[in-house]
Amino acid sequence: MSCENTFDVVIIGAGAAGMMCALTAGQRGRKVLLLEGSARVGRKILVSGGGRCNFTNLRVGPENYLSGNPHFCKSALMRFSPHDFIQLVERHGIRYHEKTLGQLFCDDKSSQIVHLLLAECTASGVTIRTGCPILGIDKKQVFLVQTESATCTADSLVIATGGLSFPKLGATGFGYAIAGQFGLAVLPREPALVPLTFTSADRQRYQGLSGVSTLANVSIGDTMFMGKILFTHKGLSGPAILQISSYWTPGATLTIDLLPHLHLEDEIIRWQSLRPRAGLRTLISEHLPKRLVCCFLDPHAQARPVNQIDEQGRKAVAGLFHHWQIEPAGTEGYLKAEVTRGGVDTNELSSKTFESRKVPGLYFIGEVLDVTGWLGGFNFQWAWASGHCAGLYV
Ligand SMILES: Cc1cc2nc3c(=O)[nH]c(=O)nc-3n(C[C@H](O)[C@H](O)[C@H](O)COP(=O)(O)OP(=O)(O)OC[C@H]3O[C@@H](n4cnc5c(N)ncnc54)[C@H](O)[C@@H]3O)c2cc1C
Repeated sequence: MSCENTFDVVIIGAGAAGMMCALTAGQRGRKVLLLEGSARVGRKILVSGGGRCNFTNLRVGPENYLSGNPHFCKSALMRFSPHDFIQLVERHGIRYHEKTLGQLFCDDKSSQIVHLLLAECTASGVTIRTGCPILGIDKKQVFLVQTESATCTADSLVIATGGLSFPKLGATGFGYAIAGQFGLAVLPREPALVPLTFTSADRQRYQGLSGVSTLANVSIGDTMFMGKILFTHKGLSGPAILQISSYWTPGATLTIDLLPHLHLEDEIIRWQSLRPRAGLRTLISEHLPKRLVCCFLDPHAQARPVNQIDEQGRKAVAGLFHHWQIEPAGTEGYLKAEVTRGGVDTNELSSKTFESRKVPGLYFIGEVLDVTGWLGGFNFQWAWASGHCAGLYV
């Protein structure tokens, strides 16, 4: 084996987690090869956050992650915090701002984050090969990684190939296949942070609402998110829907409060003395887009003067807007999902080093694992934290 193909560490996948792991291991003096199947590194970073990369969240905690093993993420999130990443961002002179709810975005472009990671990798001597599909992996004394041009060897092999979402950005099921090859369990995977679709009956019913957006409380059981929802021609999207989608399973019903800041029954009573002849549509349209109101109320109810609505009527109208129940038909799938829920079972790994308990030297980091963050910078923070922590041990 030639010296140029002999490494201490081979990392497969030059996304957020893989690059963070590579630069951390490189800083320790390890000889690192980072292999990427696509022609470019960090493609999801480039498109993230609407081109401004929501690179972390100031309020990260284990409660912001879904996992079959909810304790697993705690250690890494503590050892590499949002402030550690912010320090790196500041050291590279990248300007950023808090948009809402602790979400940090670049002021300028996502590509600044990719440049930061590349600069750190270069400074710590990491070799990067892009456009490099992996043909096979074997383990003898060391790992053998076969590419089209060479077979590379390493003591440590890190799988950082991410999830299944956005296949057009290079996503593959490679990490799960490697886990299977080495006998690690992989939990079922589903699209998450994904728009939900209507049944055909609901699609007909709500077709006139495409493009309408409003603030709402969206819940399934005890899990609730407040944020914008957006009616699309296929179903529902917007931040609150994307958040709840990670908790949605087929057959589950969403409860949506379309007027989270209003007590509609009290408001009707207030108008009964203030503007008794006003119609119900006029009242509710002060708080919601008119198209939405007209879709939820039949024409007779829309025109009904508020002083003609008795207690039972008030309760019925309030129920329509505060407790809208909808059973989605499905999701828009991996083509539109920001992340993949499920993945490599973390019970098989050390939460300190990310090394497999069964296969010494084999590591898994980032989204390929069964750790799924909420919308709002939590998934990148997981990629940075898991990549950093594994980078200290590979
Ligand atoms: C449109 C979009 C917007 C997003 N916005 C945000 C955001 O603003 N904030 C946030 O926190 N999260 C965001 N996310 C989620 C975030 O991008 C991911 O959670 C994160 O990138 C996961 O990092 P990772 O390194 O584990 O995987 P990835 O970043 O997906 O990297 C995996 C890498 O492995 C490569 N690869 C895959 N298979 C192979 C193979 N067989 N051989 C070689 N290489 C391979 C891929 O090409 C890719 O470069 C967004 C996701 C999408 C799709």
